[in-house]
Amino acid sequence: MANSTPDFDAVVIGAGFSGMYMLKSLRDNLGLKVRVYEAGDTVGGTWYWNRYPGARCDSDAYIYCFTFDKQLLQEWEWTERYPEQPEILRYLEHVAKRHDLKRDMQFSTRVTSAEFDEKNNLWMVHTDSGDEVTARYLVAAVGSLSHTNMPQFKGLERFKGTWYHTSRFPHTGVDFTAKRVGVVGTGATAVQAIPEIAQQAKHLTVFQRTANFCVPARHGKVDPEVIKARKADYDGIVKRIRESFFGQEHYFIPKSALEATPEEREREFDKMWDAGGFAFWLANYQDMFFSQEANDLCADYIKRKIRTTVQDPVVAEKLVPNGYAYGTKRQPLDTNYFETFNKDNVLLVDAATDGGIEEITEKGIRAGGNEYEFDIIVFATGFDAMTGALKALNLKGRGGRTLEKAWADGPHSYLGISVAGFPNVFTITGPQSPSVLSNMPVSIEQHVEWITDCIDNMRQTGKTTIEPTSQAQDQWVSHVNEIINATLMTGTNSWYMSANIADKPRAFLPYLDPEGVGGYRKRCDEVAANGYEGFALA
Ligand code: FAD
Ligand code: NAP
Repeated sequence: MANSTPDFDAVVIGAGFSGMYMLKSLRDNLGLKVRVYEAGDTVGGTWYWNRYPGARCDSDAYIYCFTFDKQLLQEWEWTERYPEQPEILRYLEHVAKRHDLKRDMQFSTRVTSAEFDEKNNLWMVHTDSGDEVTARYLVAAVGSLSHTNMPQFKGLERFKGTWYHTSRFPHTGVDFTAKRVGVVGTGATAVQAIPEIAQQAKHLTVFQRTANFCVPARHGKVDPEVIKARKADYDGIVKRIRESFFGQEHYFIPKSALEATPEEREREFDKMWDAGGFAFWLANYQDMFFSQEANDLCADYIKRKIRTTVQDPVVAEKLVPNGYAYGTKRQPLDTNYFETFNKDNVLLVDAATDGGIEEITEKGIRAGGNEYEFDIIVFATGFDAMTGALKALNLKGRGGRTLEKAWADGPHSYLGISVAGFPNVFTITGPQSPSVLSNMPVSIEQHVEWITDCIDNMRQTGKTTIEPTSQAQDQWVSHVNEIINATLMTGTNSWYMSANIADKPRAFLPYLDPEGVGGYRKRCDEVAANGYEGFALA
C-alpha cells in the first residue's frame, strides 16, 4: 500500500484530443486532482503543431470531434467537409474553454522523465521547467504522430536558405511567393501541402522516395440538409462509429473482388472514387488487405487514374506506385495532387529513376548527382510514430527498467494501453491498440473512458496499483502479430511497420482487430468485466 500522499492523483502528458478528454473525465467525473503538462503553448496537439499549407483533417469533420459532449455536437458548425488546421484548433480551444480545462494545464512544459517509486507506489515526474511532482497515475496522451522524424541529411547545417519540418511550421505562416521551394516526401502531409505550395511558389521541386496511392478527398462544403440529418441522427452515428471497423461510417463489400465481374468491379471502384475520402480504402472489397490478386485489381484502377491525370507519360510513370500493395501505407487523400505535376513550375525528382537525396548543400539539395537550388526546403518526412513520443518520456518502471530497454526490439504492451513493469501507466492510443488504424477521436474516447472506469474501480476496491502480467502481455503481442501476418501490411515499408526510421526495429505498431475498433472495444470491456483479466492489481 502507498504510504505517501501524491501531489496529484494523476499526471496527464499532452493536451491534444487525448489529454483534454482525459483531464475532463478524471477531474469532472471522478473528482481527481489532475495536472496536465503540455510542451506546446496551448491545447490542440496535432492541430497546434501542424500548420503547413493545406493542413486539414482527412476524416469527415462530423465524426472528427468529441462525441462525449452531446450538446456541442448540436451546436458546433463545421464550415467544410474537412476543415483546415486553424478551424480544428479553434474547435479544440472552444472545448477547452467550455469545460474549463486550462486551469489544470501547464503549457510550454515538457515532461523529460518519470520514475516509479516502488516504496510509495507513486510516479515522480520531472519537467524541463524544473517541476518535480508525484502522482499515483501517469497517463501518456503524447500522441501517435507527434514525435517529428527529421532524417539526418548530410550537410543540412550548410544550407543558406530556410528550412522547415511540416509539423513545426512557424505560427506566422510562410510566404512562398516568388520563392524556389523544395519539398522532401510524398506522404499524406506532402500530398496536402504540395498543391498549395505550387500555387504560390515561383518553382517547386518534389523529392519522392516512394510513390503513393492517393485518392481524391472530394473536399468541399457539405449540403445543409445532410448536416441537418446528421445532427438529428447523432446518437445513431456515435453508436455506429463506435461499433464500426475504422471508427467511420464505411463498410467493406462483403465479398471478394475476385468474385465480381470486371464491369461490376469497375462500377464499385467508380462509386468509391467518386465518393472520395476513405471510401476507396474502407468501403472496398473485403479481401483487399489479404489477397494480392484482389489488391492488384484496386491498385490497377488507381494506376490508370494517375496515368490519365498526369499529362507527361514519363512523369506519370514516376508517380505510379510499384512494389507494394495498395492500402498498406496510410491512405493519403488528395485535392489536385496529381494535377499539380502538370504545372510548368513543378518538377518531380524520383529517387528510383532520377537518384535519391545525397546531401544538402549551401544552395539546396544534391540528388542523383544534380544540385537543385532553393530558397526554402520543406521536409514532410513524417514522424517516429507511436513509440517515439513514449520513449522520449524516459520512463523508469519497476527495478529502474527503462521503457527504452523494454521496447528495444519493438513495443510490448497489453491491449496497447499498459506495459508490464510500468504500474499505473496508461498509454492513450498506444502501440498495439487500433489507434492510427481508426478515426482517432473514436479510439481516444474509448481509451479515456476505459481508463477512467479502471481508476474508478481501483479506488472503489481499495487497489493502489495495476499493471499487466508479462504472460498477458506476451499473449497480446503474439495475437497482434498473428493477425497482421495474415495480411499484406507486413510486406510494405511503411511507418506502420516502423520502416520509415533508420534503425527502428521492424514491428507492426498498431493493432488490427478482425472486427475493427468495435471488436477491440468489446475485448477491452470483457477484460474489465472479468476483473481486469491479465492485469495484476494490488
Ligand atoms: P496529439 O494531438 O499528437 O497531442 C499530443 C500532445 O502531447 C502534443 O501536443 C505534444 O506536444 C504533447 N507531448 C508529447 N510529448 C510530451 C512531453 N514529453 N511533455 C509534454 N507534452 C508532450 N487522425 C484522424 O483520425 N483523422 C484525421 O483526419 C487526422 N488528420 C491528421 C493530420 C495530421 C497532419 C496529423 C499529423 C495527424 C492526423 N491525425 C488524424 C492523427 C491525429 O494525431 C489524431 O487524430 C489526434 O489529433 C491525436 O490526438 P492526441 O491528443 O492523441 O495526440
Ligand atoms: P509519412 O507518411 O511518413 O511520409 C513521409 C514522407 O517522407 C514519405 O514520402 C517518405 O518516403 C519521405 N521520407 C522520409 N524520410 C526520408 C528520407 N530520409 N529521404 C527521402 N524521403 C524521406 O509522413 P506524413 O506525410 O507526415 O504523414 C504521417 C501520418 O500523419 C499520415 O500517414 C497520417 O496518418 C497522418 N496525417 C494525416 C493527415 C490527415 O489525415 N489529414 C495529414 C497528414 C498526415 P517513404 O515513403 O519512402 O518512406
